[in-house]
Amino acid sequence: MLLLLAAAAAPGAELPQTLAGTLEVEGGRPVLKTPTGVLIRLEGDAATRSVLADPRLHGRRLEVLGRLQAPDRFEVGPIHLKSMYVVEGNRRLLISYWCEVCAIRTYTPGRCQCCQEETELELRPAEKP
Ligand SMILES: [Zn+2]
Repeated sequence: MLLLLAAAAAPGAELPQTLAGTLEVEGGRPVLKTPTGVLIRLEGDAATRSVLADPRLHGRRLEVLGRLQAPDRFEVGPIHLKSMYVVEGNRRLLISYWCEVCAIRTYTPGRCQCCQEETELELRPAEKP
């Protein structure tokens, strides 16, 4: 039993992988174009997919955490684990959406849950790399 627990907690077993590149759309699906020009399809939960579909993020440098499922397919980690960042220079920025009228922040694009106005994309420096 102890041995099993130790194996499950082995270093690296649950560590997310990092993928960096430019967010683009290929055939209506979000892909990350790596610096070497390889296109890797991005998948994830519904909230993650709605962020990846935001045209305001297309063409920007992104860093995503998750797991490579195939050489051309990457599963982005759950949105609540902050698995996506915009990279500007050597800064990592958290992706969020802000309604100025209600001062409500959300993590998916769309209308404000309160006033129904379109929320604004707001990139905020991540506290720690
Ligand atoms: Zn609002």
